[in-house]
Amino acid sequence: MHIGIIGAGLSGLSAALHLLGAGHRVTVVERSPQVGGRAGTERIRGHLVDPGASVLTMPELVFDALAAGGLDRFAAEDELDLLPVTPAYAGRFPALDGLPPSVLHVPDDLAVDEHMRWQQAMFDAAYERFIGGDAAWRSYANPRDLARLGKLVRLGALRSMQHQVDRRVDDSRARRMLTFQALYAGVAPSAARAVYAVISHMDVGLGVWYPRAGMGRVASVMADQVRRAGGAVLLDHEVIGLDGRRGRVTGLRARSLGAGRGTSGADRTSAGVHQLPFDGVVLTADSPVTDRLLAPLGGRAPRRVRLSPSAVVAHLDVDPDLQDHWPTQAHHTLDFGAAWERTFAEITATRGRGRLMSDPSFLVTRPSITIGGASAASGPHETGEGSVVSVLAPCPNLESAPLDWDSIGVDYVRDVLRTLSRRGYRGIDSGEILRVDTPADWARQGMSAGTPFAAAHTLRQTGPLRRPQRVPGIANAVLAGSMTHPGVGVPPALISGRLAAEAITAR
Ligand SMILES: Cc1cc2nc3c(=O)[nH]c(=O)nc-3n(C[C@H](O)[C@H](O)[C@H](O)COP(=O)(O)OP(=O)(O)OC[C@H]3O[C@@H](n4cnc5c(N)ncnc54)[C@H](O)[C@@H]3O)c2cc1C
Repeated sequence: MHIGIIGAGLSGLSAALHLLGAGHRVTVVERSPQVGGRAGTERIRGHLVDPGASVLTMPELVFDALAAGGLDRFAAEDELDLLPVTPAYAGRFPALDGLPPSVLHVPDDLAVDEHMRWQQAMFDAAYERFIGGDAAWRSYANPRDLARLGKLVRLGALRSMQHQVDRRVDDSRARRMLTFQALYAGVAPSAARAVYAVISHMDVGLGVWYPRAGMGRVASVMADQVRRAGGAVLLDHEVIGLDGRRGRVTGLRARSLGAGRGTSGADRTSAGVHQLPFDGVVLTADSPVTDRLLAPLGGRAPRRVRLSPSAVVAHLDVDPDLQDHWPTQAHHTLDFGAAWERTFAEITATRGRGRLMSDPSFLVTRPSITIGGASAASGPHETGEGSVVSVLAPCPNLESAPLDWDSIGVDYVRDVLRTLSRRGYRGIDSGEILRVDTPADWARQGMSAGTPFAAAHTLRQTGPLRRPQRVPGIANAVLAGSMTHPGVGVPPALISGRLAAEAITAR
């Protein structure tokens, strides 16, 4: 079969490699001039910037996809050039619960062995079958899976994440370091099910990595392997429609966005629009784009989904000498406000009730701590890699708080930087701003309600209740990516690509 894959993010590239490994032909069609999507790296004014993901966990999944596409482990390690990130995170706390302001390095400063053992047990019980496997209800109807489900319930997977941490961990700072990952799941720790402690196990337990050349290296190695294995990756091509009849796709139409790039194997219909015939398609764009493409062929969009909060992300160039005096010297610092439950309540509130964090917590990212002053991707005369700082400020999505980000974005970022400067990140507010993304930017990229974190991982949007890979009503179209099972983040995107490959070949 020849499968068309819409999107060269990690889910699309994972699907491509697994399909190639199963003996199929693939063409990945990507609207951007580069691969990686929400896990890419861009060069901005001489600096390497990761506009999306910065925490790489479970690199085994990248190696698995590359192996499926024919790249052996040694060659893959060589090409990816992953560096361990130590500490995985620093947590910086204001005066809290009678303790003075402090910094906690994770995992080394965590003395929570019992909780780590429980987290590991939860991961072992959930990972292979419930995260890495088919989530369709009918697939669980066997004694082995029912027994596995029973084990998860006995471990307390359906209790709240906060409850499970509070039971075993006394230090309120450690509790935060073990539950902030609920934000990745789009819900407050008190509302997140304890099964999502697997996310905490993925970073605090299994470790964090970073490619020397930036996060986008993962996608570029995967795309290179797609090409080496005989697949095609078309950049600068936006898919504008699916061809076929009700219930069956026969191809797609893509508009060329780049100047002077040819599209091999395609019939050119009208100026810049190409028709590509396929036996099936994998769609990885976020729901608004995917649903628009599927609707004419009878693809049914799901019921309303509860969406995750969003984020404002600013990338800056800050003098490294100033950074040397900052309160932490870590690749990833969670700089917490005193408020915690209130912060989650503000950014996860339902329609119209969301608000900006009143006592904010931020993620401050400095890749130079791991890669040193200059990355492998830069030439010997290129400097400045050591000065990039990214600040992620969680905020409500546009449904929760319909703010006019194009008007308030710049002022909000300045406000964030002033707050960080007051907290000891001296000079951060005078750094040159390289790039800012707000919910308005995510919305322009086609993401639901301006959040790049898709559907929240509430119980009703988990496992068999989350959007599956199979598309009801269309036999040869399947989905991958954060909107689908198993969810948001680099590991789930890679898994969803493999599940999509399995689903379309099973059909
Ligand atoms: C700011 C931010 C920080 C994050 N931090 C982390 C982190 O530290 N760790 C982590 O694990 N995860 C993180 N994530 C989440 C993670 O990056 C994503 O869940 C994951 O990369 C999504 O991959 P995907 O393949 O599902 O989607 P995408 O990467 O969005 O891929 C979809 C692709 O489809 C393309 N596309 C869309 N429409 C069309 C069209 N019509 N035609 C052709 N192509 C199209 C897009 O350009 C895109 O390249 C972060 C995300 C963001 C935004």
